Amino acid sequence: QTQRALRSLSIPLERLHIMKGHMMEDMCKGLSRQTHAQAKVRMLPTYICSTPNGTEKGNFLAVELCQNQVRTMLVTLYGDGNMSPHMMYKIFDLPEGITQGEGEALFDFIAQCVSRFLAETLSSESRETTNLPLGFVFPFTCRQTQLDKAELLSWSKGFSCSGVVGKDVVQLLQSAINKQEMGTSGTDSDSNWLSSLRGRKSSQFTPSQLCHVEVVALMNDTVGTMMTCSMEGRPCEVAVVADKGSNCCFMAETYLVETAEETSGRMCVNTEWGCFGDDGILNDIFTPYDVRVDEESSNPGEKRFEKLVGSLYLGEIVRHALIALTAEKALFTGNDIAVLKEKGVFTMQHVLDIINNEDGITEVKRILESLGLQPSERDCGRVQQICQAVMGRAATLHATGLAAILSYMCQTRDLESLMVNVGMEGELYRGYPRFEEILLSVSRLLAPECMATLMPSRDGSGRGAAMVTAVALRLAAQRRAVDEVLAPLRLTRADLEKVQALMREEMDRGLCKETNPTASVRMLPTYVSHTPDGTERGDFLALDLGGTNFRVLVVRVTEEGISMASEIYVIPVSIMQGTGEALFDHIIDCIIDFQMKQNLVTQMLPLGFTFSFPCQQVGLDKALLLTWTKGFSASGCVGKDVVQLLRDAAQRKQHLGMQVVALVNDTVGTMMACGYDDPKCEIGLIVGTGTNACYMEEMRNVGTVEGDQGRMCINMEWGAFGDNGCLDHLFTHFDKVVDETTINPGKQRFEKLISGMYLGEIVRQILMVMVEKQLLFQGRPCPKLQTKNIFKTKFLSTIELNGLALRQIRAILNELELDASFEDSVLMREVCQAVSLRAAQLCAAGLAAVVEKMRENRGLDQLDITVGVDGTLYKLHPCFSDNLKKTLKDLAPNCNVTFLLSEDGSGKGAALVAAVADRAAN
Ligand code: ADP
Ligand code: MG
Repeated sequence: QTQRALRSLSIPLERLHIMKGHMMEDMCKGLSRQTHAQAKVRMLPTYICSTPNGTEKGNFLAVELCQNQVRTMLVTLYGDGNMSPHMMYKIFDLPEGITQGEGEALFDFIAQCVSRFLAETLSSESRETTNLPLGFVFPFTCRQTQLDKAELLSWSKGFSCSGVVGKDVVQLLQSAINKQEMGTSGTDSDSNWLSSLRGRKSSQFTPSQLCHVEVVALMNDTVGTMMTCSMEGRPCEVAVVADKGSNCCFMAETYLVETAEETSGRMCVNTEWGCFGDDGILNDIFTPYDVRVDEESSNPGEKRFEKLVGSLYLGEIVRHALIALTAEKALFTGNDIAVLKEKGVFTMQHVLDIINNEDGITEVKRILESLGLQPSERDCGRVQQICQAVMGRAATLHATGLAAILSYMCQTRDLESLMVNVGMEGELYRGYPRFEEILLSVSRLLAPECMATLMPSRDGSGRGAAMVTAVALRLAAQRRAVDEVLAPLRLTRADLEKVQALMREEMDRGLCKETNPTASVRMLPTYVSHTPDGTERGDFLALDLGGTNFRVLVVRVTEEGISMASEIYVIPVSIMQGTGEALFDHIIDCIIDFQMKQNLVTQMLPLGFTFSFPCQQVGLDKALLLTWTKGFSASGCVGKDVVQLLRDAAQRKQHLGMQVVALVNDTVGTMMACGYDDPKCEIGLIVGTGTNACYMEEMRNVGTVEGDQGRMCINMEWGAFGDNGCLDHLFTHFDKVVDETTINPGKQRFEKLISGMYLGEIVRQILMVMVEKQLLFQGRPCPKLQTKNIFKTKFLSTIELNGLALRQIRAILNELELDASFEDSVLMREVCQAVSLRAAQLCAAGLAAVVEKMRENRGLDQLDITVGVDGTLYKLHPCFSDNLKKTLKDLAPNCNVTFLLSEDGSGKGAALVAAVADRAAN
């Protein structure tokens, strides 16, 4: 029988694995907004989003409400890595009956303890001047909505004060403290426990001498333990309290905590895992003894996991096992065991004393005899085995819960392995010598990818409460400083409306012949007057010069759609920087080579030319080069018609297989390419290295070209918006520094707020200022950050990716030789978000001006329109396009704008311009 009892108390490893899986499922349930209400493992958010980093400084007060005591503590931190905090504390016994009395009396008593403690510890000068922050350890289940806002859900542990459930306990404590400070505590004189509290010493001060105490944070004891252990430079991200009850908390990725508003960084979650199994999922591992313990408890059916592992229940489990075994005549044969019938006679301490005496059957005998039993030697051995089995099971189950937490952390942090410190507290942990060994070895078996190091808590959870308070104040100060740095980048709706209005003004000025020379937005006519209508047919050649590669393409437009073939050709530097003749001769050679390879020599094909250099266009096939950029400097080209230079070269080479019909800029190519798939596409947008846009304008509005009929595509060159000073109010210190270090200071000011070439640089400037202000990397210098262009715009994309893929951020940080903490990466992400959001919003304000103008032009209440877009920043950044669309919807509510990504706009687009020109000509 004894063997059977022992077997029923030991749980096979496979069953533990299953249980770990169930615990993880329940954790997810508790975190999800939909299933939270039904979840047994409640996963309560604590609003504690950071652990101490050692820079905390000042005096912090903690109050802990315990089973039958109030503990007060004053912790002084010196910002020295928390190596030597100075601590003073005092413990007050709770008066008889107060735990069942009025809530107000309980909180008045706690406030009294605080003022009494302060009167004894603080010198009178510091009392008058300081404003003391307080952390409150309140070990009951609360629904917390802020660090300092927590509604009591239910009392437990023998407490049942009236008028507290459903109230904010922070507010209750703060009011009681305020009453003390004002000296208006009404119950003073007629309360005997208060007069007993007020010894001779307390009559030496009056309440008004007290410094102001402000309740800054509330937490439960598990969280307090985690924070207590998080000191001396070793962050602790999990805590297990194995005490009368059992609980665990850990730092979770905040975005997973759907029940809290916040989304960035990490937040401590109070699992309340004691209720695990209340849905029956543990029924098969309950022994008959567990069932009896549950039935006899004050809350049958509840806290089933806790009743297997909490020290309040372990003695009871043993007692019921002994009763059962006696009934089966396996123990105490012929003895009277009436004493065992009484609930609570067999305590956790008895169990510990019995198993902590390995050799001492005599000691076991003594204990059992002291309880009024008459054990034989054999009985003593069996009782000891039962005690060991019950304790071993409690440790094993704790390990299973811990393994679930660790695996969950490892998975959600996207790590292959996890190393973590686990703060430990509680009488089971302290009293049972094998607890630690079992916890480590079993959790290692169940979660082999995780490596936990146990850290015993010192000074209880009170010190943790002081630390939480210290961290909260550090974070609040940091938040203010960060907001101050980022404030100039945050644009209001009014700011954006103003940008929209200014853009509109500049567009009008650019279109008007008289004001065009002084407009910052040049509004260049393109001589493209139609977008594709889908009836275009034929084979076309296209050239793409000025992007990353020089390419020649053939584009076949048929009833079935468009097919393309292309070849990349190299332009040697000697030719880029030689004579214009040599350059265009080389281009013709490439075209001839391509036509040979493609078997296109016998036909004369129309050719569209995407030429991504600034041009003054005077016809569809006539464009004067204004200046070379991007490393080109071929002589004799600036001021000449580029189309003519190409034709001349063809003539020199006697190549008759092509006819240049159009030259386009890449925005136009993008619009045309998308226009083939969607006839509503009448806007082209580029957000890549630079930014620019084009759109279909009414000819009657284009003052710079003769004629009033129909429409023409206008290449806005909007990157230069603001070059006349109209956006000066928007430029931040960072933008000015970035502008000054470019090759074209004062030019392309709008582009420098938006496009890929500059966003990384803006972020870098902000990070440098934040390091200087000691907001990042704890102020450690980072020389690499001084290097221009070291922070690439693609980093913004990686860093802003949802869920903060930490491994990838680490890779970036390594590249920059930065040693960033988790908080540093969260802050870096906030900086990136501010910069990319502003870019998207400004781009939207520009587009809003365009679509609103088009709607007005056409006299419509509602405009349906499509924007063809190209550019790597738009395509690859995780939030840019969404932010752009959202802001545009807001700024131009009467325009229904669709965005269409262009595929190879410069090739396809150029061919389509040629095709459309061809169609229009015929
Ligand atoms: P271009 O505008 O010269 O035709 P792209 O459209 O490819 O070229 O844009 C290149 C720019 O895109 C680069 O300046 C770079 O800053 C930016 N970029 C590259 N990769 C990414 C990325 N993953 N996320 C955001 N921006 C990127
Ligand atoms: Mg491009």
